[in-house]
Amino acid sequence: MSIACEPLIQSDVALAGRTWFRLGGSAQNFCAPNDVAELRNALHWARSKNVPVRVLGGGANLLVRDGSLGGLVISLSQPAFCGVSFDGDRVKVGAGVDLMHLSRDCSYDGLAGLECLAGIPGTVGGAIAMNAGGRFGSIGDSVERVRLIDRAGVIVDRDVSQMCFAYRQSALEDRIVLEAVLKLRQEPVDEVKRRYQDNWRFKKDSQPLAAHSAGCIFKNPEGDVAGRLIDRAGLKGFSRGRARVSEIHGNFIVADEGATASDVLEVLEYVRETVLKKTGVRLETEIDVW
Ligand SMILES: Cc1cc2nc3c(=O)[nH]c(=O)nc-3n(C[C@H](O)[C@H](O)[C@H](O)COP(=O)(O)OP(=O)(O)OC[C@H]3O[C@@H](n4cnc5c(N)ncnc54)[C@H](O)[C@@H]3O)c2cc1C
Repeated sequence: MSIACEPLIQSDVALAGRTWFRLGGSAQNFCAPNDVAELRNALHWARSKNVPVRVLGGGANLLVRDGSLGGLVISLSQPAFCGVSFDGDRVKVGAGVDLMHLSRDCSYDGLAGLECLAGIPGTVGGAIAMNAGGRFGSIGDSVERVRLIDRAGVIVDRDVSQMCFAYRQSALEDRIVLEAVLKLRQEPVDEVKRRYQDNWRFKKDSQPLAAHSAGCIFKNPEGDVAGRLIDRAGLKGFSRGRARVSEIHGNFIVADEGATASDVLEVLEYVRETVLKKTGVRLETEIDVW
């Protein structure tokens, strides 16, 4: 059977430059569809070949292993998936929209709700998948509804209650986020802007934002903070190859020039084992490893 979309699928596309770690291998098959019809064709292609589909957002919560990655990687980076439209205090955003720009632009326009996401990189799709956020709130707090597409190409709308947002998780059930409607609040510009700037400053002062990383490597365990456990285990600065535990924030692994994904994974597993030995707590990985 001929597959209409096959020419759109590129072979051996390097992924390092598409992730915040700036390392890792390449996708055997890669597609950045121009619209939903092309996305459906790509999903159909993957099903016909019986290969897994992975969705790449901004690559800010992701470690791609070294070597060649099988299956199909889909990126919703084309304009059709990056629309932003305002309707009063609601904003409809495509999955490919840059989260840092969105949170800043809304906050500077006096639309409150996203200032808690100041300085969090990635896309709206990735943020919804991971329920990105921090001590000041998460994206799920502002979601009204989400449009998803499943691997068979069927589109469904889910309201916030059906998304079951919880700490760094949502109920996507293998679906892909296409767009979301966020319900914000109109508040005095100066107040929202100040909160945004305070949150941004807090983040800048406590995390190695200029380094290559994927943000926090581990989820916080119940009743504790992963970074504190790592710090107490004396692991800040621990390195393997060109990857190391950040001296600024124990829950960040940073990749120096020349680091490989294997270096990062070695540091990650060493940290997990050491914290388990010293504290009895088994840290759960927050980042996605492909
Ligand atoms: C310096 C730095 C600071 C960070 N600080 C924070 C923080 O404070 N709080 C926080 O929560 N995170 C933080 N992160 C992690 C990251 O920014 C978030 O998890 C972000 O939401 C990831 O979005 P992304 O688009 O980059 O997703 P990616 O890294 O590309 O993908 C992450 C996961 O989401 C899935 N995904 C991506 N797009 C879609 C889609 N359209 N549909 C379905 N699934 C999708 C991917 O398949 C993958 O499983 C930080 C990262 C860095 C590098």
